[in-house]
Amino acid sequence: EAHKESHGFQTEAKQLLHLMIHSLYSNKEIFLRELVSNASDAADKLRFESLSKPELLAEDPELRIRIEFDKEEGTLTITDNGIGMSRDEVIENLGTIARSGTAAFMQQLSGDQKKDAHLIGQFGVGFYSAFIVADKVDVFTRRAGLESDQGVHWECSGEAEYSVENVDWPSRGTRVVLHLKEEAKEFADGWRLRSIIKKYSDHIAIPVQMLKETPAAGEEAPAAEGEEKVEKAPEFEAVNAAQALWTRPRSEVKSEEYKEFYKLVSHDFDDPLTWSHNRVEGKLDYTSLLYIPARAPFDLYQRDAARGLKLYVQRTFIMDDAEQFLPLYLRFVKGVLDSNDLPLNVSREILQKDRNTDAIKSALTKRVLDMLDKLAKKDADEYQKFWDLFGNVIKEGPAEDFANKEKVAKLLRFATTHTDAEKQDQSLEDYVGRMKDGQKNIYYVCADNFATAKSSPYLEVFRKKGIEVLLLTDQVDEWFVGHMHEFDGKPFQDVAKGALDLGEAETDEDKAEREKVEKESGALVERIKEVLEGRVEDVRATTRLVDSPACLVVSEQDMGPQMRRILEQAGQ
Ligand code: ADP
Ligand code: MG
Repeated sequence: EAHKESHGFQTEAKQLLHLMIHSLYSNKEIFLRELVSNASDAADKLRFESLSKPELLAEDPELRIRIEFDKEEGTLTITDNGIGMSRDEVIENLGTIARSGTAAFMQQLSGDQKKDAHLIGQFGVGFYSAFIVADKVDVFTRRAGLESDQGVHWECSGEAEYSVENVDWPSRGTRVVLHLKEEAKEFADGWRLRSIIKKYSDHIAIPVQMLKETPAAGEEAPAAEGEEKVEKAPEFEAVNAAQALWTRPRSEVKSEEYKEFYKLVSHDFDDPLTWSHNRVEGKLDYTSLLYIPARAPFDLYQRDAARGLKLYVQRTFIMDDAEQFLPLYLRFVKGVLDSNDLPLNVSREILQKDRNTDAIKSALTKRVLDMLDKLAKKDADEYQKFWDLFGNVIKEGPAEDFANKEKVAKLLRFATTHTDAEKQDQSLEDYVGRMKDGQKNIYYVCADNFATAKSSPYLEVFRKKGIEVLLLTDQVDEWFVGHMHEFDGKPFQDVAKGALDLGEAETDEDKAEREKVEKESGALVERIKEVLEGRVEDVRATTRLVDSPACLVVSEQDMGPQMRRILEQAGQ
């Protein structure tokens, strides 16, 4: 029996639905991309399940998506023969949002529609985008493997609640019926729909079909006399190329297509900064398409945030967010990996143990680092955008990925005394190129903010001698230099730590002066030592300072102030 029930939306779902209805009207047409991509995901899931249950696919093996419209009724219908949903799944998937980071996302919403629209873009607009153009949505669906009386009808025409009931449904898969709003009736139009599908869904791997345009009345051949006019079954044709984009040769894929595909895999609204598409044959056999976003996700620093690549094995979709193929410090990378080496029945657990996983991870890591290096060389401005967004994450690299330390080091950008500006735009190679004769170290100062770093008394002698110092003011910096140790054979040296050693950059004159100061201050130093006894480890005369009378220095082995603060915050 039908058993029709009304349900209220989960709070988060309600909020998202509300936003969908009220803030995305400037970019209406994306609803079709979302619904087609859901249909395509449903086909992927069915193919995946049919690996162990071939009968699921067998009854209707040609996976496809169909789009139909009715101008008079003002409806638009998207039908797939994918995995479908059971009653419980419908309630779970269409009535709640279970994605990780949902709460954090909701907190960031500002009420400013423009800003929020951008945020939703990052979060993924998804199914509810249907309500940008429709005031009522019907979903008819049947889970693959269930009987025809296990069909489900979901219906929603407002922000508050939806209903579900069981219905007879003849076939596997899902049909979404949009009852278009008055101002969205334009979408019940063949030409318009075809152009949107071309634009957003050309690279969907299965056919997106529409009815063949019938010739206008009059052009049709008249039925010969005596011959009965038979109603022909409507004929569908594919509107998209229906070939997975990454399987095509690089030379045949246009930039525009790469960009659209990026939006599909990343849920981003904007174009990516750059990408790298590669087919690898030989010991390993895989195709990868990796993108660098032009925008940082809202959950970049959240431990449980979804990350990773879309994984396919021999063109069969296996999973989203396969995080095993890139290190954590490259977690902003989006894209696809299609492997011919991994088994089709691969799971996250198997992935962790498979030898190929590490080999691919190491190859993809290099690929990303090379792609960034190339971007830095080709277009400094674009690279600067990247650094401003993700520099702090890249700085996690030396600690996590010892093997690629040199490659990562070349990607780093710093604020230094060379420009004395806050912008982090100087590379270590730049720094080394400007080192003084005899200078052995790469000097840096750590501080909480740029103004403090720049006016640090520790810098006085360096400024006087024209020796460049890196101005480190990010939270991760002290921890990060601790793992860098050196670049190009030159050790990193904190200007605030230990005795001042300018190496061979110290001239004879400097040396004479230092010795003179040390001798002359002997008595004074002794007095200060007495006064401060038990509160400091040592008192020394120094030529480190030019204008300031005194400064505190931590010893070489001690933690710096930033590190102390981090540990204090962690309750240690
Ligand atoms: P996402 O696709 O990012 O998971 P959506 O809001 O687009 O989020 O969809 C929510 C969920 O609803 C999907 O994860 C899927 O489980 C289910 N769903 C949506 N459309 C379909 C469909 N055509 N066939 C089967 N399941 C679907
Ligand atoms: Mg979706």
